[in-house]
Amino acid sequence: MSATQPDVIQRDSFGKYPSVCWPGLYTLVYITADGGILCAECANSDGQTDDPDDPQWHIVQQTVIWEGPSVYCDHCNVEIESAYGGGWRSALQNNPL
Ligand SMILES: [Zn+2]
Repeated sequence: MSATQPDVIQRDSFGKYPSVCWPGLYTLVYITADGGILCAECANSDGQTDDPDDPQWHIVQQTVIWEGPSVYCDHCNVEIESAYGGGWRSALQNNPL
């Protein structure tokens, strides 16, 4: 995978956006045209993401949050943890009081 290559948005054999990548089974998130983040469940909801005229729902990128703090789905607000952590939570875990 290269940063200069356009991202290919993968779909599973059912035509759905997968919730994890293969190999690795890291959690995938979906970036929308307006810069929002969607979890896989919301990315698959109601086929809304097929509308290129709605930037809040138009998916332009599929990615893994590799490290750093968790992100939150802009639609359902579910927490999506980064693959390797690095946010405040893991800092606390590494340095128990
Ligand atoms: Zn969601």
